[in-house]
Amino acid sequence: MSDYLVRMAQQPALRSVIKTIGLPTPQTLARAGGPYVDTPLAGKTVLFGAGDGATASKKVQTTLKAMGAEAQSAADVTGDSRFNAVVFDATGMTDPAQLRALYDFFHPIMRNFTGNARVVLLADVPETADSVPAAVAARAVEGFVRSLAKEIGRKGATANLVYVEKGAEDRVAGVLRFFLSDHSTYVDGQPVRVTRGGKMPRSVPVTRPLDGKVALVTGGARGIGAATAERLSQEGAHVVVLDIPADAETLETTAKAVGGTALAQDITDADAPRAIADFLKDNFGGVDIVVHNAGVTRDKMLANMAEHLWDMVLAINLRSILAIDEVLLGDKIVNDHGRILCLSSIGGIAGNAGQTNYGATKAGLIGYVQSQGQKFGDRGITVNAVAPGFIETRMTAEMPFMIREGGRRMNSMSQGGQPQDVAELLTFLATPGAGGVSGNVVRVCGQSLIGA
Ligand code: NAD
Repeated sequence: MSDYLVRMAQQPALRSVIKTIGLPTPQTLARAGGPYVDTPLAGKTVLFGAGDGATASKKVQTTLKAMGAEAQSAADVTGDSRFNAVVFDATGMTDPAQLRALYDFFHPIMRNFTGNARVVLLADVPETADSVPAAVAARAVEGFVRSLAKEIGRKGATANLVYVEKGAEDRVAGVLRFFLSDHSTYVDGQPVRVTRGGKMPRSVPVTRPLDGKVALVTGGARGIGAATAERLSQEGAHVVVLDIPADAETLETTAKAVGGTALAQDITDADAPRAIADFLKDNFGGVDIVVHNAGVTRDKMLANMAEHLWDMVLAINLRSILAIDEVLLGDKIVNDHGRILCLSSIGGIAGNAGQTNYGATKAGLIGYVQSQGQKFGDRGITVNAVAPGFIETRMTAEMPFMIREGGRRMNSMSQGGQPQDVAELLTFLATPGAGGVSGNVVRVCGQSLIGA
């Protein structure tokens, strides 16, 4: 579904009318629209800075260079400078007094961002900081990033944070690549934790990173699942697209379009976990990426909710996922360096009237990835969730107009996301370069105000 305000705001005459009547004028968001490239920052203006004692700067600068950027420093900035990307390394802070470096660096450049600029900060993981003042300083950076993101979001610009565990500096390159590119368009104001625990793959290609990998996408016939199947296949994966038998025709079309394999299967069937495992084992020898995308809403206020609506949503959105993973992980159908990805929702973070069933399932998945996140590190398997906000799909098209408008506008970008925005985040988390990210729940919501 497309957004009428985004379309109208593209035309200068209508844009001023929209402004005059006090409606938001959403920026057209830059989207990559294709596979990863080697040097996405080539020809772009990038500014880099760091606080005293920062520990990740060397790796950051190597990554920027590899991405094609000749990074400038604060000394090069003039009033006319315009930055497509800005990176600040705030790791190594031992006292909140050092937060002044954020003001000193960002205050003079706040009017110098281009539309769709990308800002990334790095900080230490607060929970494992060496001292209380260090923990306070590290956590303060998150508040700074979230606020900064809200100040620049109407330009389509984003600000995100990478928490880097000590010793995990070598693992930040993949996250930086994602956040600094137009693949991360609708991920805004988010912290991602990079840890040193799990095994990293030996080879971490930046283009076609999924060559030779096999992916399973449940509920992949349409919407977010179909967009994800497309992105995964663009990066080289062979995608097994699964959906219910009643949707076999759409499923076949989607699977064919991505050069993948269709699997008509209801994930709530008692024998589904075994059937899926056998299919993957027999046809491909295993699976590398599992995207648990199938999900439904059956909204009713709890007082009016029939028990079958409760049971159905719990079965599809939560219980089937646990049952499938039990077999796929238990029988080692998931290969080493595998990726398990769950679709949570901001409904699972904030809750929603009329969604006690849905909210419970999507929050349950957060508990699931947090409890599983570090369990398979010895095999390099990561388990993460993404939490979409308002995404333009069949699910949101069915909402009443006023609720749909509220959901669409209540974020830093004043617009909904597209299925491809969720697909981009899932695809990044599926790459070898995301090996340091596990047990994370990353929102893709344009920094929605809901549950923030
Ligand atoms: P969608 O309705 O467009 O697609 C969901 C797919 O899942 C459908 O093709 C459906 O046939 C399939 N499915 C349903 N039950 C199944 C079953 N028992 N077995 C196999 N497949 C089944 O939905 P979408 O908007 O693309 O959402 C995809 C996921 O993203 C869901 O988990 C949803 O909860 C989550 N999500 C969506 C949004 C949004 O704004 N659209 C926001 C937050 C989270």
